[in-house]
Amino acid sequence: MEAGFVGLGIMGRPMALNLLRAGHRLRVWSRRAESMRPLIDAGAIACDSAAQAAQGAQVVFSMVADAPDVKQVALGERGVADGAARGCVFVDMSTIAPGAARSIAARLAERGIDMLDAPVSGGEAGAISGSLTIMVGGNSNAFERVRPLFECLGKSITLIGDSGAGQVAKACNQVVTGISVAVIAEAFNYARVNGVDGERVREALLGGFAASRILDNHGGRMLARNFKPGFKAWMHQKDLRIVLDEAHRLGIALPAAAATAQLFNAMSGSSLGEDDSIGVLKLYERLSGGVGP
Ligand code: NAP
Repeated sequence: MEAGFVGLGIMGRPMALNLLRAGHRLRVWSRRAESMRPLIDAGAIACDSAAQAAQGAQVVFSMVADAPDVKQVALGERGVADGAARGCVFVDMSTIAPGAARSIAARLAERGIDMLDAPVSGGEAGAISGSLTIMVGGNSNAFERVRPLFECLGKSITLIGDSGAGQVAKACNQVVTGISVAVIAEAFNYARVNGVDGERVREALLGGFAASRILDNHGGRMLARNFKPGFKAWMHQKDLRIVLDEAHRLGIALPAAAATAQLFNAMSGSSLGEDDSIGVLKLYERLSGGVGP
């Protein structure tokens, strides 16, 4: 299939590579030319805009940061809508607000372009291994047309519902993962202050009801003090902002998400925003007098 890909960062680059490896013809664009280099080396066609990446493509993916970026890529100057033919499907895999996804989809529909919101879970490792969890919102016809490409990127691929529903599912995912990362850091910091080895605590907890993939994977990286992103803390801050804005609009209480959002806010305000979100451990350490002897 002929596809376009815009946004070649931590996630987008390996995802685009997986599409190429599966034999699809790929047109790529990224703001920074160096981000395109590994894709061009692997056989992708370099473009100078999102519009050019969309020319002749049946499907165009975006994997950028937040809603204003997706809007710019889709509808801005030299954006996807300027290059895509009618009948093309625009698939945004970034994490953005459900309302923003619905409004971009409505504007693209006026130009004859279907949009799927298809955010992912599984992180950089899942992007590299093609084992992402993909949560899709949009119409089933567009979903079926894109399914063969989704299968190059992920293992669990679910059409959740209409436009925006994929982003709602992803928001639920971010509530669970954000709170989990924070409470695991909280527990490890508690162990440390008590003079107890966090690794022994992790091993013990992995055998009981507190076991989780986050305790295993993220907890392991926390204790190894490997804070290289992965998933940047400011991205998780953005995701909880999306959730809390929606909670405000809907008039519902999300107290645990709100408390966790404060921690990610504080990370961004204390030069930890570019760390992986597991760097929240460092914040706990600062709040309790620094790392002990
Ligand atoms: P990243 O490494 O910062 O990459 C984002 C890419 O988007 C960059 O290459 C950037 O291009 C491009 N970009 C941003 N704004 C743009 C714009 N207005 N126009 C064109 N290109 C733009 O971020 P990431 O970690 O890959 O995350 C991407 C999305 O996936 C986010 O929505 C994030 O929440 C979500 N996500 C991330 C993870 C994870 O573990 N990292 C997991 C699941 C979901 P330049 O580099 O050229 O500036």
